[in-house]
Amino acid sequence: MLTRLRDYEPGARIEADVAIVGAGAAGITLARALMGRGLAVCLVESGDADYDAQVQDLATGETAGQPYYELRESRLRFFGGTTAIWGGRCLAMDPIDYRARPWVPRSGWPVSEADLAPWMARAGQGLGLRFRHFDARLGAEVALPRFPLDGQGLDTVFWQFDHAFWRFGLPNCRDLAEAADVRIPPCRGTGPRRSRRAQAASRGAPHGAGRGRDRECAAAARRTRGDAHGAWQRA
Ligand SMILES: Cc1cc2nc3c(=O)[nH]c(=O)nc-3n(C[C@H](O)[C@H](O)[C@H](O)COP(=O)(O)OP(=O)(O)OC[C@H]3O[C@@H](n4cnc5c(N)ncnc54)[C@H](O)[C@@H]3O)c2cc1C
Repeated sequence: MLTRLRDYEPGARIEADVAIVGAGAAGITLARALMGRGLAVCLVESGDADYDAQVQDLATGETAGQPYYELRESRLRFFGGTTAIWGGRCLAMDPIDYRARPWVPRSGWPVSEADLAPWMARAGQGLGLRFRHFDARLGAEVALPRFPLDGQGLDTVFWQFDHAFWRFGLPNCRDLAEAADVRIPPCRGTGPRRSRRAQAASRGAPHGAGRGRDRECAAAARRTRGDAHGAWQRA
């Protein structure tokens, strides 16, 4: 069920067994996993179904550490979150990503690669990926010959692309919006809209740009995709 917080009285209480804050890839996937399990799930989203510059201002901030895109332009504030401008590249993290490294402040995860391994195939399903594996087994699945130097200091890295257009946008999440046990209260906005300006903007934006976003968002997508951090881009 989709509701708007602005339609609630101030101080109104929403009862739920599980509250998920943020309808990005993470929140939506979690809500889907909880759907139909007899729990009342509330998925709270700050934005609406589409880009809104005023809401996006809430993402203004500073990034620390390695240079990265402007925060306001790289964390999108509407249903579906940042996947509206992501490159769709899906790969497993390297084992070292999980480990504490003395030279990386606050590094080290409370979960290991082995903890997550059983869930990788399911994550791939959620992204509509064709192959179950993200490592050398994927090479075998697509009958890729082994490279002569594989395993001798060089490894082949595999990734797959999610080619769906705006997979986590509200139009593609009707299952959640219509589920009786999931309540989605986006905070503000005017509901789904797709102005001519927005259509023109998203046509001019690079691959993956969210349909229905206005020019500012499309320009942000262009900026974030066009610089040296384009590692996420499809080749
Ligand atoms: C240009 C670009 C390209 C990228 N390409 C790739 C790629 O190819 N492969 C890859 O794996 N990753 C890529 N990424 C990163 C990837 O998009 C993000 O890591 C991913 O989308 C994060 O998902 P999330 O659900 O954690 O957060 P988000 O997608 O940021 O979603 C968070 C949601 O929470 C909402 N929210 C935030 N605060 C609140 C609040 N207080 N109350 C209620 N709601 C709130 C937001 O509105 C938003 O909808 C890319 C990122 C960028 C910027």
